[in-house]
Amino acid sequence: MPGSLSWLAMQLFPKQAPFTTPRTSGSHSMPPAAVLPQLDSTTALFLDFDGTLVDISEQPELVHVPIDLGSILQQLAASLNGALAIVSGRALMDLDHFMSPLVLPLAAEHGSVQRFADGHIAQLARPELRDVERVALALAGQHAGLRVEIKSAAVALHYRHAPALEVLCIEEMAEVVKRTPGVELMKGKCVVEIKAAGVSKGTAIQDFMTQPPFAGRLPVFAGDDTTDESAFAAVQAMGGAGIKVGHGDSLARFRCSNPAQLRRWLQTGFERTRP
Ligand SMILES: [Mg+2]
Repeated sequence: MPGSLSWLAMQLFPKQAPFTTPRTSGSHSMPPAAVLPQLDSTTALFLDFDGTLVDISEQPELVHVPIDLGSILQQLAASLNGALAIVSGRALMDLDHFMSPLVLPLAAEHGSVQRFADGHIAQLARPELRDVERVALALAGQHAGLRVEIKSAAVALHYRHAPALEVLCIEEMAEVVKRTPGVELMKGKCVVEIKAAGVSKGTAIQDFMTQPPFAGRLPVFAGDDTTDESAFAAVQAMGGAGIKVGHGDSLARFRCSNPAQLRRWLQTGFERTRP
């Protein structure tokens, strides 16, 4: 239909499927940064938080949230009839703290915890992580610069302040994963995380897309990290669009440079002439 995401994609790339952008060479060639999908009343919008909506902070608890972010998201959520959710590796309380007073649907801890539009919270997984915690805390006790984050269904070992310890962190956590049932290792930006196996940002988006007001819309997801690749794959498999924020190989068919550029798109990307 004119003005819809798929309609726009067909105008831009008439011989390709919705949101398939031209590739110049190789499997990870990037489209021009200026080509971002048009949001309209048929969109379901999913957004990562750190590195996507806000710049990554040296200390995660000290992340700077731009003063207008809440109002941008509130207006957009209203335009999308509520079909806007945050999809992040952070804990739910963390996300609520940074978004306050705005309360949005969200998938926290890479999808292990989900809060839907009606306020219902689902804790999908709670693996036994005592051994993982013990190993991570012991490592942090031995090496300055490591930080352990214990969530309801995951343990994250951050090495942003000790990047030379990356291999050690990954090897130690991989060892404990081998003897811990139902968990898997996931690597992000300066963090190695142990979380429930089979749960990801991609599965979280699939869950949201079965629920109102998301169901029946075209999903768009923006994220910046390798942990967002499952979400790019999920939305694009549904005919939607993935937007990679920043550098790095990605399945996403769209790209923008940084969180500031993404926020500008969030402010201006909604087609307000649509009914
Ligand atoms: Mg991120």
